[in-house]
Amino acid sequence: MSRVYNFSAGPAMLPEEVLKTAAAEMLDYHGSGQSVMEMSHRSAVFEGIITQAEADIRELLSVPDNYKVLFMQGGGNQQFAAVPLNLMRNGVADYILTGQWAKKAAKEAEKYGKVNIIASSADKTFSYIPDCSDLPVDPMADYVYICENNTIYGTKYHQLPDTKGKTLVADVSSCFLSEKHDVEKYGILWGGVQKNVGPAGCAIVIIRDDLLREDINPMTPVMMNYKVTADNRSLYNTPPCYTIYICGLVFQWLKKMGGLDEMKRRNEEKAALLYNYLDSSAMFSSTVEPGSRSLMNVPFVTGNKDLDAEFIKKATESGFVNLKGHRTVGGMRASIYNAMPMEGVKALVEFMKDFEAAH
Ligand SMILES: *Cc1c(COP(=O)(O)O)cnc(C)c1O
Repeated sequence: MSRVYNFSAGPAMLPEEVLKTAAAEMLDYHGSGQSVMEMSHRSAVFEGIITQAEADIRELLSVPDNYKVLFMQGGGNQQFAAVPLNLMRNGVADYILTGQWAKKAAKEAEKYGKVNIIASSADKTFSYIPDCSDLPVDPMADYVYICENNTIYGTKYHQLPDTKGKTLVADVSSCFLSEKHDVEKYGILWGGVQKNVGPAGCAIVIIRDDLLREDINPMTPVMMNYKVTADNRSLYNTPPCYTIYICGLVFQWLKKMGGLDEMKRRNEEKAALLYNYLDSSAMFSSTVEPGSRSLMNVPFVTGNKDLDAEFIKKATESGFVNLKGHRTVGGMRASIYNAMPMEGVKALVEFMKDFEAAH
């Protein structure tokens, strides 16, 4: 068996230890005589899995008691609709455009109400996070929406926007559990788990109690209703049981590794290694302004399409896979989530140095 260094933006690498545990427990989970894929979601044994998973993510993020943790199906795109359906009361929301995922979220919200774009970095192909210290927040806005880490463009908010008292909603899909979030600053933070947390099939929504209301848009499908999901402890219908189980194993792994402060330290170390090389290289360069750079997704280019293609080909042959940039950006992108070890980034940088020397 030989495993590659996988730089995919998502689905992405999972910790090897987690995969080994899942393999060992595949046929007989903790003496139940069944795999987690086969057991009833109403059984005591699955009850234990989801209860432990919730307790562990609460501990990792120090989630306050007045917030609920929901495990929902439908991924990120479903949350683009769930947010306006559950939160629009005045029928107005403010969105900040920092890339494709924020744009898609805004477009979906437009189906349900008025959407104001109160800041954008579209003028420079989303290569920076706009100044959000004095935004033209609509007094009627039900919430202000951001995409905190922009998976495709490789930018991240290093400071949250001043929402002037309005509820902040953040898509944290690609920075989820990469470091601590100050949960109290958000009304909702949600993430699709397939970037940094687990296999595809689930979004985790952390939501403040007062936003769980009955008087929501009556057209809201029951599967997108936050209150129904919370009242049923994410077990209104059959949840993505196996995904929740793997997420739970990842939470255990994160705790064992020293928690999210330690993950942040590691992630900063990994990212610094790559950015320092990009900033010193005569061939490769980062596409993102230094003050807005993501710790998780690192796009870079040579400035020459043919050379980019050759680099990707050679890298793949050498066991560095999924380095091709998003189809809308081109070039390369290295996603270096929690599960990417330091050795993987070191090996990539060495490979890039050799490639540079040979060309
Ligand atoms: C991948 C991604 C999404 C979309 O998630 P799906 O589960 O594929 O719908 C949304 N937001 C961000 C930031 C992402 O990285």
